[in-house]
Amino acid sequence: MIGKFTRAMALRFPNCGASEIFRGYATLVETCPACRLKFERHEGYWVGAVAVNTVVTIGVFVVVLAGWSVLTWPDPPWTAILVVTIALNLVFPIFFYPLSKTLWMALELSVHPATESSQPPDTA
Ligand SMILES: [Zn+2]
Repeated sequence: MIGKFTRAMALRFPNCGASEIFRGYATLVETCPACRLKFERHEGYWVGAVAVNTVVTIGVFVVVLAGWSVLTWPDPPWTAILVVTIALNLVFPIFFYPLSKTLWMALELSVHPATESSQPPDTA
């Protein structure tokens, strides 16, 4: 399970570790170039990646807000904190988008491991 998340953090396919699974910044190819496993395992699959992105973005927001407030207490610079946290909430999800997809695949594959039946039919 740890291996899957390590591969995901390196933007590799968590199932087999294949690289070059992205075309451009965040567009996944449809199947793994190494093991041919289809990335989108069912309809609505990527809603999980959106959830991962949302949860991590909220976590970063809370850490920055709470940390900055505590470190500068009793006189936090509220305007600066507001500007930075709003900018962070706009920019961070875009930056994190590819990682949210690989982390979601790692999480989902940990719960529902790939089996022979999840492989596409051999076209060779
Ligand atoms: Zn693969």
